[in-house]
Order: sequence, then C-alpha cells, then structure tokens
Amino acid sequence: MAIWNPWHGCKKYSPGCANCYVYRRDSQFDRDASRVAKTASFSLPIQKNRAGQYRLTAQDNPIYTCMTSDFFLEEADPWRPQVWEMIRLRRDLEFVIITKRIHRFSAGLPLDWGEGYPNVTIVCTCENQQTADQRLPVLLSLPIRHREIIHEPMLEEIQIRPYLETGKIEQVTCGGESGEGARLCRYEWVLSTRKQCMDCGVAFSFHQTGANFQKDGRIYRIPRSLQHSQAKRAGLDHQPSRLPKTKAQMEELFQRLSASEFRSRFSLSPKLKQYVLEKGEDTLRRHAQDFIRTRLAPAEPEHDGKQTPMKGHPVFLAQHATACCCRGCLEKWYGVSQGRPLTREEQEQIVEILMEWIRRKMK
Ligand code: SF4
Repeated sequence: MAIWNPWHGCKKYSPGCANCYVYRRDSQFDRDASRVAKTASFSLPIQKNRAGQYRLTAQDNPIYTCMTSDFFLEEADPWRPQVWEMIRLRRDLEFVIITKRIHRFSAGLPLDWGEGYPNVTIVCTCENQQTADQRLPVLLSLPIRHREIIHEPMLEEIQIRPYLETGKIEQVTCGGESGEGARLCRYEWVLSTRKQCMDCGVAFSFHQTGANFQKDGRIYRIPRSLQHSQAKRAGLDHQPSRLPKTKAQMEELFQRLSASEFRSRFSLSPKLKQYVLEKGEDTLRRHAQDFIRTRLAPAEPEHDGKQTPMKGHPVFLAQHATACCCRGCLEKWYGVSQGRPLTREEQEQIVEILMEWIRRKMK
C-alpha cells in the first residue's frame, strides 16, 4: 500500500468534515488546511529512481490517492487532467480515490475514460443517511469500473440496501471518528451495515472504532493506537462468496472439482439417469431449490455435516460432487461463511452449480 498526495489542503464540505484530520494535523504545524496547493510528490507515479525505474511499483498497490484533500475539489480542476494522465500511463498501479464530491466526478475527466479506467476504484464517503441518499445515486449513475462506499466517520445508522442490491458496489467500509471531540460511533450501526452487505453479497470491512465507541450501552474511550486493531479484533470483516457467477468461473470450478479425488468419484447410476430423464430439468431444479432452501440455507441447518444423503436423488449426488453438501464444505470451497443464512442469490448460484453437474453427467 502507498499514499500519493498530488495536492494538499481542502475545504470543509459536509457533516463528516467537522473534525477533519487534515485540519487537525495542519493546525499542529500552524498550517492553514484550507489553502489548497500542489505537493512535491505531484508526479510521484511517473517519478523514477537513479536506476531509471519507477519509484512506485505494482508491489505498492493499492495507491491511496489524495488522502489529504479531495480529488474532485474545485480548486484542483486545473491539475486533475495531468493526474488522470499519470493514472492512465501507470496501468500496473491500482489507484483508490476517496471522495465526498462525487457530483464533481466529470470535471476534467479524460476523453478516453469510456466505462472507466480498470485501475481506478472510486470510493464514495457517506457519513449519514442524507449524504448516502444524495451521493450514492450519483456514484451508481457514473461510468466507473470499481465502486466502494465508506461510512467514516459513521454518524448514524445508514440504510444502503437498495444501492447494494444493484450489484455495482464492491465493498463497504465503516469507521468511527478519531481525535479531540470525536463523535460517537455505535456498534449496532456497524452491525446494521454489515448485515446489509452480507445479505447483498458485498464485501464489508470495519476499519476503525474511532475514539468514542458504544457497545452494549457502554461507551469506550479508545486511544488512537488501538482504534484499528480493536476494530479488527471484532472480527466483523466479511468477504462475499466465491460461488461462480460467470461461465468462465463455472468452468474453473469444474476443473478444480475434477482434481479432487473425493469429489470426482461421484456419478449418476443408470437408475438415477433414468429418473433425471423422466422428471425433466424444471422439476429437478425445483427439487434442488427446495433441498438447498431447507437443508443448507438456514444459519444453522439441522444436522449440519450429515444433512445430505449419499444416495437416493441426483441432487444429493450433485451436492457431494460439487461440495454443496453442508455448510463446512460450502465455506471451504466457496468462502461462504457459516452461521448466517444463505442469500437468495447464493441459493440460486448453488442450484446452478448442481444443475450444471447433472447436465455434465447426463452426456
Ligand atoms: S472532504 Fe475530507 S479532506 Fe476535505 S475537509 Fe472534508 S474530511 Fe477533510
């Protein structure tokens, strides 16, 4: 990870800016944080060392860009085209741009931007419900390849489910506020966002607790040095499943399965093949949906680990052959964490895997 600050200084813009860390830090050095100026590292991505090699390499990824300002600040309009040009040149670097000014995204956008440079992630900060409802529709409407959301400082519970359901958001990060006079962040707000992410198959990260954190009715004053580690200790980070969504991913899965001695030994007997022919794909799909919904989807399925018979129905065989037989296998093979219900989308993805296995075995 590296930080690139092509300019420094910012203007306070919304409630989240009240205790801005840039202002806080600059005041310690008697600097005016509202004065926006280019920095000495303006051209860092194209700077080279004495050996003629770029100072920043892919090993430094991700490159957090403009962390002591806002990338889309009006005052930076004259400089932004040059910065986009450097980003365009360094396709090997992954730039992460965090902004509260998503409405200014198009100011100075390069002509060849198209659907977005693949090496750019735009992260929209929304500190409360109002800013989420203002900014997220804009974020979703723009041509951007990688979109994330940050609630930091998180000032209240925020409902973003409709935005997550678009499938266009890759990750949501929550965090409290640090510094003197930090506003409270509540554990249940963080849990609420986490649940929305998990329900919608979006990655979630709890970045930091902030200085004042409330859990179970008790307020904790957490020193700066522990705010990140305490958040990680809460164990709330979540990665969505690796269930295949595309043809290529399905193909890759079946290659992995064929390499497993245990999984690859399952097949359909002539009797079960006859059953498949008689019932037809629609009926089998309904059976599969029913088995997955009742035996696998609950947060704590009954007799988990033993709920799928080894014989008697083509779907059972498909479940064992594709590691969709219990929550332990599902977690190991697909990263679907145990202890939570499967989303409807995940259930459908599993059914798709099972039907694909049956199709292949009928050939
Ligand atoms: S947008 Fe960010 S950097 Fe700018 S004042 Fe607000 S919190 Fe500070």
